[in-house]
Amino acid sequence: MKEKATAKCYMSLGSNMGDKEENLKSAVRLLRDSGRITDIKASSIYVTEPVGYADQDDFYNICISFDTDLKPLELLDLSQSIEAELHRVRTIKNGPRTIDLDILLYGDEKIKSKRLIVPHERMFERAFVLIPLSELKDIDVPIPTDKSVKKLRKFTF
Ligand code: AMP
Repeated sequence: MKEKATAKCYMSLGSNMGDKEENLKSAVRLLRDSGRITDIKASSIYVTEPVGYADQDDFYNICISFDTDLKPLELLDLSQSIEAELHRVRTIKNGPRTIDLDILLYGDEKIKSKRLIVPHERMFERAFVLIPLSELKDIDVPIPTDKSVKKLRKFTF
C-alpha cells in the first residue's frame, strides 16, 4: 500500500494558568494520541515574560517538531480542539491562557487563509518562540532580547 505523504511541522505551545507544565504535557500527549502525529521532539521548557498584556503570570513555553499526514487546516482543527479540551479561557487579547498552540511551520508551505497563516505571522518577533525553536532547528534570524526567556528544565511527556 502507498504510504501517506507527511510534512515536518513545528509548533509553539504556551501556558500561564494552573499547572503549566502539566498543561503542556497534556497538549503534547493529545497531539500524539490523535494517531496522526509521529516522531515528536520537544525543546526544553522556558519561563518567559508575557508579551502584550503584561499584568499576568509568566508563561511556560516549549516548541515541538513532528511529522504529520494531516493537512494544514486539519492540524489547526486538532490544535483548536485540544485548546478547547484543556479549557482554554479567552477573556483578554494576549491575556492569560491555560494552553495556546500555534503552528509555526508546515513543511516549506506558505499559507495565507482566513483561519491560518504559515509561517506564523509573529514568530520572528518572539524570543519565546525562537529560543526554544533553535533547540530543534537552525535559525538564521536575529533573536529579540527585550523580554526575558529562561531555560527551566528538560521537557518530557
Ligand atoms: P491566538 O489567540 O494567538 O491563539 O490566535 C488564534 C487565532 O489565530 C485562530 O483564530 C486561528 O485561526 C488564527 N491563526 C492564524 N494563523 C495561525 C497559526 N499559524 N497557528 C495557530 N492559529 C493561527
